[in-house]
Amino acid sequence: MIHKFDVLVLGAGAAGLFCAIEAGRRGRRVAVLERSERAGKKILISGGGRCNFTNIHCRPDNFFSANEHFAKSALSRYTPADFIALVEKHGIAYHEKTLGQLFCDRSAQLITDMLETECRAAGVRIFLDCRIREVRRQTQFIVRTESEEFHAPAVVVATGGLSIPKMGATAFGYELARQFGLKIVATRPGLVPLLLGGKDFNRYRDLAGVSAEVVATTNHHSFREKMLITHRGLSGPAILQISSYWDKGQSIQIDLAPGREIAPAIRSAKVRNMAAARSAFLGVLPKRFADRWLEANKPASWTNEALAALEKRIHGWQLSPAGTEGFEKAEVTAGGVDTDELSSKTMESRKVPGLFFIGEVVDVTGHLGGFNFQWAWASGAAAGRSV
Ligand SMILES: Cc1cc2nc3c(=O)[nH]c(=O)nc-3n(C[C@H](O)[C@H](O)[C@H](O)COP(=O)(O)OP(=O)(O)OC[C@H]3O[C@@H](n4cnc5c(N)ncnc54)[C@H](O)[C@@H]3O)c2cc1C
Repeated sequence: MIHKFDVLVLGAGAAGLFCAIEAGRRGRRVAVLERSERAGKKILISGGGRCNFTNIHCRPDNFFSANEHFAKSALSRYTPADFIALVEKHGIAYHEKTLGQLFCDRSAQLITDMLETECRAAGVRIFLDCRIREVRRQTQFIVRTESEEFHAPAVVVATGGLSIPKMGATAFGYELARQFGLKIVATRPGLVPLLLGGKDFNRYRDLAGVSAEVVATTNHHSFREKMLITHRGLSGPAILQISSYWDKGQSIQIDLAPGREIAPAIRSAKVRNMAAARSAFLGVLPKRFADRWLEANKPASWTNEALAALEKRIHGWQLSPAGTEGFEKAEVTAGGVDTDELSSKTMESRKVPGLFFIGEVVDVTGHLGGFNFQWAWASGAAAGRSV
């Protein structure tokens, strides 16, 4: 059976659904082809089931890409305020959790319900369980699935990245880009827990579950947020954020007592010893972690000089992660379709007219905190207004 549409959107995730809504509202006949049995699966599990759908402090420097200017145009033309207005129109209650991050009060499903309602209102047709066999371009694009054929002058690729393969992530978008001769910036896991190896792994692994507010730094990027010790290494927002900037073989630096001084309390103690050092950490780090860290970082002596060196180590603890937990645990995929290949205004390929790429498949990645969805909405809107 042959279906004829104006626009075929491949992937019913955040970016694909949003693009379809924008295009449908403009009177385009839109079909969304989704591989899995339901739309917006990743939205459902996002933000711990409450979907951190945007961030009110969204700025271009919350994103990284080989071209740091690329995302600016789309982000400025579809802002967090625009998405919040849509959420409010649907009566979805939300709250700011921290650092401008907006979450649903109740459930992420309200966001997928909202997107599906808007799709219906815009006349968008969603085809689920679609196995795409082939995409060809003749006078129009022809997309063949197992049993059907879809024809349209425009195809929008919104098939996401490689993170969480068990949720249905595929390399389809990258393969399609290559098929049409577009370059790809090497992909790697982003917003992902880091693994500790050797001595560090053995020293801290039984503290899994312990967390502390730290400043984590690597490659000139720093984030002040919570760090969490896991059975395999380190996680928590501070670590997830720097993981996106970390390269294998590099070290990371952790300030364990941001804005606090530990040495003065040891210097002024009656007796300068480990007990005094341990109590200097009270209220700064969880006790078990402070004790364990001190065992491994015992000052060479208790002189003022040695205490100054200890203070320095507390604010610049050096660790060399053994790796990351990979795409299985990564929240996003960094890298992707090279932005040099795309128009920043419309997301259309410069080489292949009518072929668009949006969302996570593009080499634009956000920080933790609602920025990746804001990119999905904004890039989806940019393409949806143009197709
Ligand atoms: C556990 C987790 C929690 C997250 N929480 C947040 C959060 O709270 N806030 C935030 O901003 N970001 C969050 N993210 C990141 C965010 O989910 C993604 O950045 C966003 O979903 C990307 O949107 P997308 O539409 O590009 O891709 P996706 O949402 O991944 O959608 C891609 C769609 O394409 C479909 N597809 C794949 N291959 C094919 C194919 N061959 N044919 C047809 N369809 C195909 C997939 O099934 C999927 O439905 C989270 C990610 C994870 C993994």
